[in-house]
Amino acid sequence: MTIFTKIIQREIPADIVYEDDLCLAFRDINAQAPTHVLIIPKEPISSLDALQSEHQELMGHLLLKVSEVAAELGLSNGYRITVNCGEEGGQSVDHLHIHLMGGRKLNWPPG
Ligand code: AMP
Repeated sequence: MTIFTKIIQREIPADIVYEDDLCLAFRDINAQAPTHVLIIPKEPISSLDALQSEHQELMGHLLLKVSEVAAELGLSNGYRITVNCGEEGGQSVDHLHIHLMGGRKLNWPPG
């Protein structure tokens, strides 16, 4: 079980900003921008590479929630989402998550 499943199950605390039957959004504990939220499926999918065709609707749901959460958090000047995948992609928690970052001018390309 990853730390994110423990957050979903309320075994460890998190600053939750959105929740529905399929997903949870909470503030990253090590924020890289003034607003940095993780949007995760409740289903414990390990990474983008673990997605199956049955997850198509779920992933669409997550992406639709991005702009809703961004608007709710006041990111009217723009924002960025990132999904790190695997070791070289910088993934450190093996539960699929979308980083939503905003509140400052973001550099491109990322490091
Ligand atoms: P990644 O490196 O893409 O796998 O992202 C994992 C993210 O989870 C990192 O940005 C961490 O700061 C964040 N994180 C780890 N533990 C927690 C936690 N308990 N609550 C909130 N965010 C966390």
